[in-house]
Order: sequence, then C-alpha cells, then structure tokens
Amino acid sequence: MRRDEVWCTRFGGRHAVVVGGGLAGLLSARVLANHFARVTVLERDVLGSPSDVPAAVPHAKHGHVLLAESLRVLSWLFPALTEDLLAHGAQELDSAQDTRKHQGGVWKRRAPNGSKRVGLSRPLLEWRVRAHLLERRNVRIVDGATAVGLLASGEGARIGGVEVEHEGSIKRVDADLVVDAGGRDSRLPAWLEGLGFGAPAVTEVRHDAVDATATSRRRHYEQMERLPEGLAVVGDSACCMSSRVSQGMTEAALSAEVLDTALRLQARTPGDIRGLTMLFQQQLARTMDLPWKAALRELRPRTALFSPRAMLRALTAAGEPAPARAG
Ligand SMILES: Cc1cc2nc3c(=O)[nH]c(=O)nc-3n(C[C@H](O)[C@H](O)[C@H](O)COP(=O)(O)OP(=O)(O)OC[C@H]3O[C@@H](n4cnc5c(N)ncnc54)[C@H](O)[C@@H]3O)c2cc1C
Repeated sequence: MRRDEVWCTRFGGRHAVVVGGGLAGLLSARVLANHFARVTVLERDVLGSPSDVPAAVPHAKHGHVLLAESLRVLSWLFPALTEDLLAHGAQELDSAQDTRKHQGGVWKRRAPNGSKRVGLSRPLLEWRVRAHLLERRNVRIVDGATAVGLLASGEGARIGGVEVEHEGSIKRVDADLVVDAGGRDSRLPAWLEGLGFGAPAVTEVRHDAVDATATSRRRHYEQMERLPEGLAVVGDSACCMSSRVSQGMTEAALSAEVLDTALRLQARTPGDIRGLTMLFQQQLARTMDLPWKAALRELRPRTALFSPRAMLRALTAAGEPAPARAG
C-alpha cells in the first residue's frame, strides 16, 4: 500500500492524548490527527523558540543528525518540512563525506556516497515540527502541563485518560487512547505498577561509566502479561539507544509509522480500541529489534584490538619493547 493511501483508512476515535512533546510525541500526534477527532499533546516544559532550551533536557543543545530513514518518515508526515528546516539553518550532509566516523578502532575514510542526512539542533527540529503539526486544526499542544498519573476505567482494565498538573491545579483529561512519549525518564512503569499491572522487564546496556546518555535501555511492554487497553508507548520511553549511534529520532519516526499501521488495522472495528495496545507494542518491538541489535554491535568494545597478541603486535610495530612475561 502506498503511504499516501494510508490516510484513507481512519480508526475513527474521539480523543487521543499524548504525554510528552518531544519528537516521538509530536510525530505520533500527527498520525493520531488522522484517526481521532481531537488530539492533545501535554508537554511538561514551557515551549518557546529554539533559543529557549529547557534546562531539564540534557540533549537539547547537542547537534543532531537525521538519518535517511527518519527523513523518509518526516517527509511522509510533513511533506514541506525538510525544505523548511533547511531554510531555517539546518545543513544537508553527505553521510560519508561530511561526517567523521570511528568504527572498529579506526577512522573511516571520508568520500561522498550520495546518502543524504540533515544536521540540526533538536530545538530547531521540534520548533518546526510543532509549527507544521499545528496546521492540523484538530491538534492542540498544551505546555507547562505535567501528566501525574493515569485514569483507569472499566474496573481498571482500560486507560480512560490522564491526570494533569497545569496552572497550579490537577485536572482530569479523558481520552480513548493515551500515548506515552515521556522519553527515557517516563513515569509510566511506576503508574502501571500503581494500577496493579506490574512494570515491564528492562534490558539495559551501559556503554560508558560516566555518561548516562550513552546507556541503551529497552522497556519490554510487549512481554507484559497484562497491559490495559487504550495505551501506547513510543520513542525513548519504550526503546532508548545510546546517543552515540544517532538513532533516537529515527526510532521516534518509526514509532509513529507503526502506530499508524496499528490504527489502520484497528479501523476494522471503528472506534473500538480493544486489542490495539498489545498489537502495537509487539509490532513496535519487532521493528526496533534490528536497529537495537545493530546499535549494540556498533557500540560493543572492540576487545580483539586490545588482546595481548594485538597489543604485542602494535608495540613491536611502534618500536616499543614488548612487556616482560610474568613468572
Ligand atoms: C547527547 C544526545 C545526542 C543525540 N543525538 C542524536 C542524533 O544525532 N540523532 C538522533 O536521531 N537522535 C539523537 N539523540 C536521541 C534523540 O534526541 C531522542 O531519541 C529523540 O529526541 C526522541 O526523543 P523522545 O521524544 O522519545 O523523548 P524526549 O526528547 O526525551 O521527549 C520527552 C518529552 O516528554 C516530556 N515529558 C516527560 N514526562 C512528562 C510528563 N509526565 N508530562 C508531560 N510531559 C512530559 C519531556 O519534557 C520531553 O519534552 C541524541 C540524544 C542525546 C542524549
């Protein structure tokens, strides 16, 4: 099926709420806008122009690179976005010519390979994505609004919305679907535990003893025995790879694409959300498997380079005396 045909199949829901206005939340909201009458994005931070960088987001100031796969999904969701980003200062890059890559212990040779990427700051990207998203008349972004818990309904088997702290008071926001895009520090595991569902199993790989953003973490919602209906978990909240592999925004894009596919399948029973949660998390986990394994391979310490034999060879080649053997 061509992607431009995708929008023809609509789930027909009433209201979807997205917790978190990072890239995963914004792209999910764009997809939801085609399947729900209303979409509300709740963002804890107060949003502004790209120069207003929220202090709580450590990666906001770092340069980011959009890989080919994320550009494909972004162009599908917002056809005019790439041009717009370039007009606002983003840089088109050739993946091999304009970036330096250290892999397998060596710096890769730089030569053009025709594979396009876009380099930009994260605040710039999110600012322009928000602008394009808000062209959809059924989408609203509420900033300075922190989700503090889930509302359960149907004897706890279904999520019926969220509790939100906004402008000094706690409010209820009802929804047919709640999408958690709260990022790597999402509170969802604790909320689910509080509702008696337990927390998801976690796979965590530390690649750096000091830098926490170099930790890769997957939360296996797809393996939970029970999950409430009316919930979906996207982006870093579900699968967060080390910043060193520059894949987080691609995952955010793929999450939105998988969400769209799941909602189209769900459209066989219009307006009936039952079954969506597990279907979506399982499909997302399958989609993330390949990039996750590839990232871990790329980040694995190259032990062979530090083997005694390799070290001996290197020292001999450098004219250094070989270390004496013990004993
Ligand atoms: C140093 C660094 C460099 C990186 N470089 C790259 C790169 O080059 N390329 C790339 O593809 N990726 C890169 N990444 C990863 C990328 O930034 C993220 O994976 C990507 O932005 C997707 O994030 P997200 O939307 O899932 O989560 P986030 O960006 O963390 O967004 C989560 C949002 O949810 C909000 N929130 C959280 N809890 C609540 C709540 N209870 N209520 C309301 N709002 C809430 C937060 O305020 C935040 O705005 C990098 C990451 C780091 C740390």
